[in-house]
Amino acid sequence: MPILAADKELSVYENMAARFDVAAAKLGLDEGLQKVLRSPNKEITLYIPVAMDNGKLEVFVGYRVQHSIVRGPAKGGIRFAPDVTLDEVRALASWMTWKCAVVNLPFGGAKGGVICDPQKLSRRELEAITRRYTAELLDFLGPERDVPAPDLGTNEQVMAWVMDTYSMHVRHTTTAVVTGKPLDLGGSRGRREATGRGCLIVTDRALQKLGRRRDEQRVIIQGFGNVGSVAAKLLHESGYKIVGVADIHGGIYNPKGIDVPRLLDHVLENGKLAGFPGCDRVAPQEILTRDCDILIPAAIENQLTSHNADRIKAKVIIEAANGPTTALADDILAEKKVFVVPDILANAGGVTVSYFEWVQDRQGYFWSEAMVNERLEEMMVASFDDVCGYAERHAVSPRIAAYMLAIDRVAFALKLRGLYA
Ligand code: NAD
Repeated sequence: MPILAADKELSVYENMAARFDVAAAKLGLDEGLQKVLRSPNKEITLYIPVAMDNGKLEVFVGYRVQHSIVRGPAKGGIRFAPDVTLDEVRALASWMTWKCAVVNLPFGGAKGGVICDPQKLSRRELEAITRRYTAELLDFLGPERDVPAPDLGTNEQVMAWVMDTYSMHVRHTTTAVVTGKPLDLGGSRGRREATGRGCLIVTDRALQKLGRRRDEQRVIIQGFGNVGSVAAKLLHESGYKIVGVADIHGGIYNPKGIDVPRLLDHVLENGKLAGFPGCDRVAPQEILTRDCDILIPAAIENQLTSHNADRIKAKVIIEAANGPTTALADDILAEKKVFVVPDILANAGGVTVSYFEWVQDRQGYFWSEAMVNERLEEMMVASFDDVCGYAERHAVSPRIAAYMLAIDRVAFALKLRGLYA
């Protein structure tokens, strides 16, 4: 049954809420609980003054939304991008709650963002934004309160500044306040690759379920940052044929397969995909509808919509990005019998290894990369099987099954805790 009747695309938060409502109704969730779980716990807006390199003062707007702390400390990345909105951060915070619950981590959900263009900022300006953002949030962050991580436009260096700022204020080094840190500052082995590795694990599992072979699969990946480039590398090494990739500047397509190691070198040298020889040039959006077997959107939200879903050729979609598919596109893809591994499962490898990092920091004992990867695989496979089993039992899509499983777990914990009044 279609989730929405009207041919009208929704905002990022409304797209999250549309799926939440369907899953909550299927669960027969109490109306009051539904109201509580649909709303965020806290939304903070910050105005961040920064002295720019040109001598002028600038004020950047930032957000931190804590959606839930029912199952543990709030957990979620910080995004630096020019088009960040509160609506988007609110949706991303909710998705973190559902994602952590799908993989059964003892975390709630949060997300942060600052409206800025990291490409146009100097290192000093970026550091100033990060430190002031962290300092303003001091009362809300902490290993037992809210633990940020990297997302679009942020990286290990930004996480190191968050850790240092927090630590200077509380007067002792507190590595577990943030994850995705450099290895030498309490980071975890395998964290940088974790989201891409998680995508490989669920892709393998999906093929096993569908009875297909890796070496027959042509893959397209939209987004070539932390997640997309690692997914490309690991899938290529595992025998998949990568035929198309795109970043914000444009895409490249070669039906014979792209030499991924050479492409990674090219991007390291040039900062973008453009100019890589031997491929057709394609627009960033057009890459989504090119011929392939598996499509991995790994860039931003609302990329697969009612405007292009009927032209998607892939039979399997692995949602590495958060919210790449709109609720209207869900219906079209379901009619085309496309197997979609939903974001709150497909990209959960990142937060899973963030959990391992938090555990290691608190223990002061660091695991080998093999141990991290082995435990990641174990948790991703179990979660994939949980979601698919749930989908079959309740005759719903894997996406609605993932939401149902997550909402059920959070609602159960909330009922046990009760409401503090
Ligand atoms: P990133 O900043 O490292 O890379 C983003 C990539 O997407 C870049 O290649 C950029 O050029 C490209 N891009 C941006 N807008 C685009 C557009 N309109 N068309 C085509 N390409 C575009 O970010 P990331 O960390 O790789 O995150 C990518 C996605 O994965 C986001 O949705 C993020 O929320 C999600 N995610 C990231 C992690 C993580 O561990 N980093 C974990 C879970 C989910």
